[in-house]
Amino acid sequence: MFDLIVRGGTLPDGRTADIGIRATKIAAIGDLSDAEAGKVIDAAGDLVSPPFVDPHFHLDATQSYGIPRINASGTLLEGIGLWGELKKVMTQDQLVERALTYCDWAASMGLLAIRSHVDTCDDRLLGVEALLEVREKVKDYIDLQLVAFPQDGFYRAPTARENTIRALDMGVDVVGGIPHFERTMADGAASVKELCEIAAERGLMVDLHCDESDDPMSRHIETLAFETQRLGLHGRVAGSHLTSMHSMDNYYVSKLLPLMAEAQVAAIPNPLINIMLQGRNDTFPKRRGLTRVKEMLSHGITVGFGQDCVLDPWYSLGTADMLDVAFMGLHVAQMSSPEEMRQCFDMVTTESARILGHQDYGLRVGAQASLVVLDAGNPIEAVRLRPARLYVIAKGKVISKTPRQNAELALPARPETVRRRHAAHN
Ligand SMILES: [Zn+2]
Repeated sequence: MFDLIVRGGTLPDGRTADIGIRATKIAAIGDLSDAEAGKVIDAAGDLVSPPFVDPHFHLDATQSYGIPRINASGTLLEGIGLWGELKKVMTQDQLVERALTYCDWAASMGLLAIRSHVDTCDDRLLGVEALLEVREKVKDYIDLQLVAFPQDGFYRAPTARENTIRALDMGVDVVGGIPHFERTMADGAASVKELCEIAAERGLMVDLHCDESDDPMSRHIETLAFETQRLGLHGRVAGSHLTSMHSMDNYYVSKLLPLMAEAQVAAIPNPLINIMLQGRNDTFPKRRGLTRVKEMLSHGITVGFGQDCVLDPWYSLGTADMLDVAFMGLHVAQMSSPEEMRQCFDMVTTESARILGHQDYGLRVGAQASLVVLDAGNPIEAVRLRPARLYVIAKGKVISKTPRQNAELALPARPETVRRRHAAHN
């Protein structure tokens, strides 16, 4: 007897299987046609996936678009300036409410694990207090991991260093930084060194906004890989963005990628944001601004796509749909073969879960019973359609349902409804 059985779904690896859930765990996967359950979901013909995972987000800034004004230049730097104006006037209640609203959107999209950076440059640490409160409030349905992020520079902002350490003392999970925003390359490198040392001392993970720049000489990823191996932080460190790599000299990159692989430094490109923000000083040809995704994958580097922003000073769109992120990543990185398209789905599910260190994630017996039923036949079709999340199950409970979105047609000698699913997958 199970509490819940999800019957007949197609798993991401192509198998058809029933999934039996007891309490908060997956108890069985296979042919459960003779088994009984308190509740049954018919997923025949639909994709059943582990939940989406966002390895890079800013929950303290989301849904603040237009307050107090919009980003006229569309650049990262104007966004940082605008955020500076906004954070002076925010209240903790507003921060909590906006973040909870975003978590509602995420739940409805099957996005059940989020790593969010939280700004630690405000002496009041309002954002930190707010997101610690939100982490607690959503813990039954979203695993929220927080990164202490000195947005205005660990050394460049006068109290950032002290406040970042305070935030970690308050229970923030991961050490963050922004070396390319420090005053000099030397300060940037020094910040990477000290931040990695703090993580090593405290047994924490590291995730730096690293080289989010079009400057090919922004090479803090080299220092990050070096400090990771020096301090034995293998597998616990990620570089977010890494956009300067798209402009770096190829010979230099041929040395850099093996160093990243050796240190097991993961990469978190943010395709929606970087195709929007990067290359703003270019005329033509204009750079795409996404890091070297395929090249990193071919070196065995773990890559997870992040969403970064939704409706904030840096990005005016977004819906908490990680399939939008995979869709953009697929295009900008030119990941067009079937295998590569499939990898784009993995980069917003399993690969990002690996970066966050989630041990009980996935579709296997004993794992957390969190999964999504999608109106698609397989992962590639999911990226193509970005379809309705028919059911979202978090830790054994159905937390969201969305009806199929079929259109009714009024055309002579044509079907009455259309689903836009490919015949081979129906
Ligand atoms: Zn970011």
